[in-house]
Amino acid sequence: MKAIEQYCYRLPWTADDNPNGWIEPTTFCQLKCPGCYRGVDKEGHKSEHFLLEELKKQVDAHIRERNIQTLSIAGGEPLLYPELPELISYATEKGLRTMIYTNGIGLDEQLLGKLKQAGATQILVHVDRFQGRKGVNSITDVIREHRKYCELFRKTGGVNLGFIQPVTKACLAELPLLTGFFSQNRDIISLVVFTLYREICWDHKKKPTIDTSITIDELISHLTGHKVFRAASYLPSTHTPGEPAWVFSYAIGTGNRILGFLDKRVYRSIQKNYYRYKARHLFISKNYQVKPGGLHKYFYFPSIFRILVKRLSHPAKDLFFQTYLVIRGPLKKGDHWDLCDGCPDAMYYKGKLEPSCLLEEIQRRN
Ligand code: SF4
Repeated sequence: MKAIEQYCYRLPWTADDNPNGWIEPTTFCQLKCPGCYRGVDKEGHKSEHFLLEELKKQVDAHIRERNIQTLSIAGGEPLLYPELPELISYATEKGLRTMIYTNGIGLDEQLLGKLKQAGATQILVHVDRFQGRKGVNSITDVIREHRKYCELFRKTGGVNLGFIQPVTKACLAELPLLTGFFSQNRDIISLVVFTLYREICWDHKKKPTIDTSITIDELISHLTGHKVFRAASYLPSTHTPGEPAWVFSYAIGTGNRILGFLDKRVYRSIQKNYYRYKARHLFISKNYQVKPGGLHKYFYFPSIFRILVKRLSHPAKDLFFQTYLVIRGPLKKGDHWDLCDGCPDAMYYKGKLEPSCLLEEIQRRN
């Protein structure tokens, strides 16, 4: 097997030059997903909203100290935060893109309209059958819920839609159903994030109820084998040489047909051009529809040339980018954590940057 650096671009993200910043305005949530990074499923969990003025200071610090392009707004359930539109407006006025991680329960036409007006760039919805949601017990139920969000976002327009899907070994057999759905709806789904199911802040004495044995290589081989994924860029893990922690694939397709994928060289060139003009790294794009002529300037890359040739047989159809991201997440190794090198999901806690996935542990230690 080839080493990942041979076929993938190593994203040059560091603690002080990183395109993403993480912020959590609230720890309230309507659900109790098992393994929640924020410990919402644990006894003694404290729900609170944080002050908008304090959050604005965190946004400023992310800009000043990390040079971010995107503010990722998570929680808890961020849609429960009463001043979410104000927070998004503040980040937008500062020139940031915003990505909201939500369970989608409170998302309706009215709220989506408000978030759009505030400048929200992308909303990532998490629906799965382990959340204890009423009527969501199978992959068919999950897809039915996803379809509702697709319809809502098509109707409103102007805000990008993505889905997050935690994966266990048992889910692998069902993934083709999901990836088939994502392909059929590529006109509206721009991002799909698969995370390996982990139990980061469970009581270590408790036996896990969900199988967490899946590895990132297994998941990537599975997606690659189904021809929906081709690794193009990655972040390594901090303590396991050769094992990636984040791996991206960028497909270009029309209808439910993939015409090709960006390869390492194209993606490196896109990132370098972006950095040259904007002086910061690219994390999320506002437009995922490929502009007419948008690929021609990269025609000398064989992967793009092949897409342009295939495009000749589908000239009338719109072309879309669809990004897949696979995240391994943190792993406990002995007495230390093996994390993502250049952690993009770092957040401020007591004025210090910490990986957001470890916040529960850090708070318990303090
Ligand atoms: S180290 Fe933790 S918080 Fe940082 S990117 Fe990895 S999983 Fe996310």
